Amino acid sequence: MVLADLGRRINAAVNSLTSQSVVDQTALDAMLKEICTALLESDVNVRLVGQLRNSIRAKVASALNKEEKESGSNANAIKRLVQKTVFDELCELVEAHPTDEQFKPKKGRSNVIMFVGLQGAGKTTSCTKLAVYYQRRGLRVGLVCADTFRAGAFDQLKQNATKAKIPYYGSYTEPDPVKVSRDGVEKFKKEKFDLIIVDTSGRHRQEQELFAEMVQIGEAVKPDQTLMVLDASIGQAAEQQSKAFKEASNFGAIVLTKMDGHAKGGGAISAVAATNTPIAFIGTGEHVHDFETFSPKQFVSKLLGIGDIQGLMEHVSTLKLDQKDTIKHIQQGIFTLRDLRDQMSNIMKMGPLSKVASMIPGMSQLADQIGEEDSTKRLKTMIYIMDSMTEKELDSDGSPFADQPSRIVRVARGSGTSVREVEEVLYQQKMMAAMAKKMGGKGGMMSRMQQMQ
Ligand code: GDP
Repeated sequence: MVLADLGRRINAAVNSLTSQSVVDQTALDAMLKEICTALLESDVNVRLVGQLRNSIRAKVASALNKEEKESGSNANAIKRLVQKTVFDELCELVEAHPTDEQFKPKKGRSNVIMFVGLQGAGKTTSCTKLAVYYQRRGLRVGLVCADTFRAGAFDQLKQNATKAKIPYYGSYTEPDPVKVSRDGVEKFKKEKFDLIIVDTSGRHRQEQELFAEMVQIGEAVKPDQTLMVLDASIGQAAEQQSKAFKEASNFGAIVLTKMDGHAKGGGAISAVAATNTPIAFIGTGEHVHDFETFSPKQFVSKLLGIGDIQGLMEHVSTLKLDQKDTIKHIQQGIFTLRDLRDQMSNIMKMGPLSKVASMIPGMSQLADQIGEEDSTKRLKTMIYIMDSMTEKELDSDGSPFADQPSRIVRVARGSGTSVREVEEVLYQQKMMAAMAKKMGGKGGMMSRMQQMQ
């Protein structure tokens, strides 16, 4: 069962209980049965599911007893308690309680992070994603390709790194991964890089040879943190695989990949429990920005469709959206074509619309219905149209097009679109300008609101 379905089923179970007029032991048991079946079908370990069931039952039992004595007076409180307990217990399931504090690279010293994992788990992809993540946060990051086992591994890393403008190190001729990783780390250390990420080779299966190589590379580069990359879609095998890697590399955190699409994710949840190691990041697609920090509360909120406002705020704050001019314009009661273009490209920067929608409370169901390709295509067409306008036209309120309709035909031709599509953009801007006029200016809503503060 994919994660979105799991969330929906758990939600439905909780809702069917809370919509009943009387919450009793039978109703509670039916809800628990449905939640547990859904978790088991998502590959969560049977022992963990048992623990979760007992824990919810124990927490709700005393409230139920009291309820029975007071007959119905406290039904709403019980419903809230059930909702909260299910939420807390699901968080507990994905939360590790490691004894060490989580590692965070610091500026001003060369931090080394080593990646381990099986071939195909998403190591090379995740290395670049992590590099971009920290580069955006102001660290100088270098990538080292110590995967001399898989043909084409260095080319893949090189390609990813070049695209993301991350310096890299690797060798086409040196067959010894220990030497390559040592040389690469030394080079970046000498150049005072803040973070050096080492991509090691994987194998199709867990093999002694792989573990021996991992230990040797670890001794050579002395990582501050080792991250294990785990494919979320591998189901029950995740528990055993992560245990074997934990023994050999003692990784400090997990990067869970392929959480998009049809990942079951349940096996990975069990991996957290088996190794008591937290998930640090999750990969949610093949693109370099499809990468998020993992927080149990946010994960469960999203799973249950409660939304993830904290995640959305974090996401938006890393995008460096430029809103200053538009806000100033609206305050003055103006909204130009350039404002429209800036806002459209801001929306594009936010990533897939379905992902943004899934972070907004109450919108997660809608997220599944958004035609991703269609909406992205429309946004892009609008931006192409505005890119074909002159600077003067962009800074205008659209009146140059009213004065000279032949310009509409020109812009349509220049952007490879139709006259109707250009007219639609102009109409949209007109509507926004009318709204800005109402809001801005001296007597407008914005100034009245400022006066009230
Ligand atoms: P490696 O052998 O462990 O280095 O794995 P790669 O980085 O080459 O990844 C294997 C495949 O998984 C590639 O096709 C990646 O594009 C894909 N991949 C990696 N991470 C993700 C993810 O989070 N989501 C999806 N959908 N694909 C991913």
